[in-house]
Amino acid sequence: MKYTFESNTLEIIWNGLNETPKRTNQFVTEKLYLKFLERGWVLEYEIEDIFYHLDRGVYSIFLERKSMDEIYKGFEIDFETIYDKPKATDSSVMGYNSISIKNFVFLLIQLEKIGFSTNPIFLVEKLLPALKQKKYLSKSELEIFWYNKTRLKNETIFLSIENYHGFFLNPKKLKTELGFKINVEFDEENKPVYFEIVAPKFRKKTFTYPTTCEECDYTWQKGDPSSSASHRRVHKRAMNWLNPQPLERIKELDKINKDYILVTADSPKWQHFEMYERAYAFKKEFRYDFVQYQSREGHNDENIHGYLFINENDSIIGACCFRKNELEWGLDWIWICPIQRRKNHLANKWKMFKELYGNFYVEPPVSDEMKSFIKKHDSLLL
Ligand SMILES: [Zn+2]
Repeated sequence: MKYTFESNTLEIIWNGLNETPKRTNQFVTEKLYLKFLERGWVLEYEIEDIFYHLDRGVYSIFLERKSMDEIYKGFEIDFETIYDKPKATDSSVMGYNSISIKNFVFLLIQLEKIGFSTNPIFLVEKLLPALKQKKYLSKSELEIFWYNKTRLKNETIFLSIENYHGFFLNPKKLKTELGFKINVEFDEENKPVYFEIVAPKFRKKTFTYPTTCEECDYTWQKGDPSSSASHRRVHKRAMNWLNPQPLERIKELDKINKDYILVTADSPKWQHFEMYERAYAFKKEFRYDFVQYQSREGHNDENIHGYLFINENDSIIGACCFRKNELEWGLDWIWICPIQRRKNHLANKWKMFKELYGNFYVEPPVSDEMKSFIKKHDSLLL
């Protein structure tokens, strides 16, 4: 964020930032804040009052009318005239220059961002509940809404004179009470012309770019922590079916010479879970819209027979699912992990499937590879 101010205003800000901070008189400020909250408006002279109690540095700026007006303008703080509610007999009313309570909190937040001790937390907490109910937020409401999350982490702020070209030297550094780091440059008359104000907890956002994982095929924003975290979750899940590992549960099963587990309505939940994950892998690989398995929890449909394909290491290397449609059985889907394809895992079971399910149909669409597989293995059985 960049603000352009006159040299005189920058000098007043510099002097203000160098004032020794005094303890805020919390009792007085909170009493005034409650009055502002009740009224919804803060009168111009009250702003001066509050700064007298909050931060001596800001208070000194307020004594320079022209500089303060420049700051209001820079921060886009709009004043409005508010009036005493007239009584029936009144023919004239008193008007006061004032800003809304939300604009006032916005001012406190902006001043804090440039290094002053204008802690707005008390007011932010009071205003937040109502803001959370709103569908749309104004500029000042948005700052209040985000305040707790963004406090002391805001983007670097630059203040400079209008025609600053970056050739001034004589730099000075200042660290404020809250930890803002301020670098200032001065001209030959020793007047500040440029400020760089870095918030104490500001972290430069790293550049993010879309990356697709070669293993799990997931596309995420590299450099964005939350996006990377979703990739790790997706990746871990996909590795379960792409790079299957031996499972203790399978080792424990009594499966003499069997390279599969039949999963029916009565099977344990974990077997349904593994079926679901392969149905999900099938959907993902062939970009179908639905997962062709009821749920991870299982089902109570007698007309569904799932098969988990097991290898000699007790790992689940794939699965297929048969479904009885009225009278006929059909092969609903089959998915084998890529590194285990063309290793006869289906071929080894084809004869058994034919014996159990008769001349079952294969749910379309059927790939050319599958078509020639069926042709070859059916003819072998004749
Ligand atoms: Zn991945």
